Amino acid sequence: MAVIAFIGLGHMGGPMSANLVKAGHAVRGFDLAPAALAQARANGVTTADSAADAVAGADAVITMLPSGKHLLDCYREVLGSVQPGALLIDCSTVDVADARAAHEAAGAAGFGSLDAPVSGGTAGAEAGTLTFMAGGAAAVFQRAEAVLEPMARKVIHCGGAGHGQVTKMCNNLILGASMIAVSEAFVLGERLGLSNQALYDVASISTGQCWSLTTNCPVPDLVETSRANHDYEPGFSAALMLKDLRLAESAAEQSGTDTAIGQLATELYQRFNAEGGGEYDFGAIIRSIREHSGAEGTVTPSGSAEATGTA
Ligand code: NAD
Repeated sequence: MAVIAFIGLGHMGGPMSANLVKAGHAVRGFDLAPAALAQARANGVTTADSAADAVAGADAVITMLPSGKHLLDCYREVLGSVQPGALLIDCSTVDVADARAAHEAAGAAGFGSLDAPVSGGTAGAEAGTLTFMAGGAAAVFQRAEAVLEPMARKVIHCGGAGHGQVTKMCNNLILGASMIAVSEAFVLGERLGLSNQALYDVASISTGQCWSLTTNCPVPDLVETSRANHDYEPGFSAALMLKDLRLAESAAEQSGTDTAIGQLATELYQRFNAEGGGEYDFGAIIRSIREHSGAEGTVTPSGSAEATGTA
């Protein structure tokens, strides 16, 4: 049993910390939101009055915060209170530069650290089946594996400092782009008179197969696990998808990488968020694609599309 400090007890951190308690660890939590603290207490977490109080005496400090700014502010506040030899593990999704700055701050204070963002969403956080993608020294990773295990299906060492975040943003570039492509395909099929079921039955066992189709299908009633069946209640919100795509675009710009699809996906999620879609699951972008499609066309026997003039 270890003493683990957990800072950031929100949608992800709440259930993640609960799984550490279930595994027998003594978990000391802190969050700025009173409701998050109350829920954590109900889950068996001992809550502290400040982040500095939570980390004092802990063997490991886990952070699960909204952004890199929150992370760096938090490290500034707590590093002086962390006990020698403790391990710092950040599981938030943040900019690669911020992740590396956090490693530097931890290293300068004498601590081993990992960036270890996750994939699997709130369902994975609750079930303890997250994928952790870790960046940092191999020796630190080996020590961290046992701490992460009760929250994880898989813990993968992706490379040095920041490489967990690089992996996460590359994965989510694929995810955002594939969700848009799947949604466009369904809307196109619908408008040409194809049933959603027929497209699903073929694409799900053909070369169009992907997670956005077969696990979180943007059309309701085709896949049991899809958030579309729950009026697109997240899941993984469109606001968080936009955040991750922006991180990828910022990294692409800094590294001079040609990511035309990533750029377009960012613009489309930006549009969807501006239309008020941010709080919905990212699969709800199919609604935006339907709304932005022009007057419906019919296919003539020759195969050319002809607008009917009706929406
Ligand atoms: P959330 O907003 O529900 O939780 C963040 C929590 O941090 C909030 O409760 C907030 O009060 C708290 N907080 C903010 N500043 C703090 C501070 N200085 N000290 C203590 N607590 C503070 O967000 P979430 O959905 O749990 O996501 C957390 C991180 O995980 C984000 O970086 C997100 O991108 C990433 N993530 C989320 C999902 C998902 O499906 N929700 C999936 C993968 C990764």
